[in-house]
Amino acid sequence: MTRFIGIIGYPLKHTVSPVFQQAALDYYRLDVRYEVWETKAKDLAVVINQLRQPNRLGANITIPYKEAVLPFMDEVDDFASFAGAVNTVVNRGGKLAGFNTDGYGFIKSLREEAGFQPENKRAMIIGAGGAARAVSLVLLQEKIELLAIANRTVGRAESLADSLRKYASNEGINAEIIVLPCQGLEFSKTVKGCHLIVNCTSLGMKHTDEEGISPLTGDLIPRGALVYDLVYNPLITPLMRIAKEAGAYTLGGLHMLVYQGAASFKLWVGREAPVDIMLSAAKQALLKMGG
Ligand code: NAP
Repeated sequence: MTRFIGIIGYPLKHTVSPVFQQAALDYYRLDVRYEVWETKAKDLAVVINQLRQPNRLGANITIPYKEAVLPFMDEVDDFASFAGAVNTVVNRGGKLAGFNTDGYGFIKSLREEAGFQPENKRAMIIGAGGAARAVSLVLLQEKIELLAIANRTVGRAESLADSLRKYASNEGINAEIIVLPCQGLEFSKTVKGCHLIVNCTSLGMKHTDEEGISPLTGDLIPRGALVYDLVYNPLITPLMRIAKEAGAYTLGGLHMLVYQGAASFKLWVGREAPVDIMLSAAKQALLKMGG
């Protein structure tokens, strides 16, 4: 019996997950197809419940449903539960288990690709959506010294900071967590003192209204810092270009995308994902789309 995995989101015109996940499935010669399940909000419940069928291994969940699928899950792992977002669903005999592999993808790429150790460092997170929640939680777990969160909607950053502080206090983690608006003196001063700056917004993403936009200007970026842009299309984002000119190190979102996908792959099929094959397939797909 052919089995299926898919990506659920809307819109899904420019997703590369099907290309690199299929490359990994084909590497193991598995009779599994990874499909694009573009889903309108009104159909979400039906599409999620179809994942309980025996021929469905599970799914990836992407924008805008990572939070909306939580109530449909029969179980949710601790990380996804704190992040308040599920990006991977596994069908376990008709029961749906929700996971979030974004935090793993981020930290693995941060260490492996940029050689960055978060312990005792200062980080600026720009954004307060699902990705920012996963990134800030994992940085807290990795003993970051300062987490500064700046978001267009400050209230959203406040609420993320509150839950991070609660988490840190419960786990006995010592970190300073502050919230800032995305501009102003305090913001500039804080960014300039950070070792790590992470763009967790969609600013700069190709094929969107935010294409070509950078969340920061070059004068704020400290020389020698690491600027990590979660945006993976284009491969070199406006922020990365500006950061490089300012003398910072840069990393784009492609490696995170592949590492989070590799973790999802292992959850579905129980085998180590062929990361190099996935990375090269993803890169080719993005270049084909003009990334
Ligand atoms: P989300 O939950 O929808 O959050 C979007 C964030 O972007 C919010 O902080 C939002 O601010 C901000 N934003 C959107 N448009 C903006 C604008 N015009 N000006 C300023 N801020 C703006 O999305 P998400 O899941 O966190 O994803 C965020 C980005 O990360 C996306 O580009 C996604 O593709 C990328 N991502 C990459 C990976 C990877 O593996 N590389 C994984 C996950 C996500 P408000 O709160 O003010 O609306």
